Amino acid sequence: MQADTYRHRGLRRTLVEELRRKGIRDERVLTAIGTVPRHLFFEAAFQPHAYQDKAFPIGEGQTISQPYTVAYQTELLQVRPGERVLEIGTGSGYQCCVLLELTTQVFSIEYNPVLFERTARRLAALHRPAHLFCGDGSLGLPQHAPFDKILVTAGSPALPRPLLRQLRVGGSLVIPVGDEQTQRMVRVVRESEEEFSRQVLEEFRFVPLLGQAGWNK
Ligand code: SAH
Repeated sequence: MQADTYRHRGLRRTLVEELRRKGIRDERVLTAIGTVPRHLFFEAAFQPHAYQDKAFPIGEGQTISQPYTVAYQTELLQVRPGERVLEIGTGSGYQCCVLLELTTQVFSIEYNPVLFERTARRLAALHRPAHLFCGDGSLGLPQHAPFDKILVTAGSPALPRPLLRQLRVGGSLVIPVGDEQTQRMVRVVRESEEEFSRQVLEEFRFVPLLGQAGWNK
């Protein structure tokens, strides 16, 4: 495991200022991005680029989301200390560690077994105590529901019903929804047992959400 140096901390401060300029306002989210050493979630070849506001390959055809996207989704989620949060698409584990800066109860599911193993080892080495699972996250984690917040970090063709059912009343789901090229960020709030409200926001480009309630591949 490489070190987190004074230079890396300086690069993070610059990244945080860039995110502020791009419109991220929540100081708790900006502090989290300024704290988590993003370079430790990259393969060696890409490490020098870790503090650019860009997405990068993490292997297995997947990507670590751009810092702006991580900040945008995290800001929308409005996580409070002690809340139970479920992330779909662990990937590199970076977003998961940003969530752990905001609450101690983070559950995350990854579909790809190779990424799952690699990231589970990484988070253990970093002493980040997330609850990690390997499987089809489009179905959620019924055995650990309900959740206060659910975050999907892959693009979905529709709102997965299992995830809506696993939200606590008053809780919210943040998910990119669209076709395989572009998606719009959607924030759904469970207003009551049967009622959901929905806001449709900015456009993004994510890798596809696979699985039964995703693209079914
Ligand atoms: N949040 C990640 C980036 C995720 S990229 C990070 O911070 O690095 C999207 C991830 O979703 C990929 O790793 C992909 O394998 C995973 N994925 C796709 N469909 C999934 C599903 N149905 N369940 C769980 N993970 C899924």
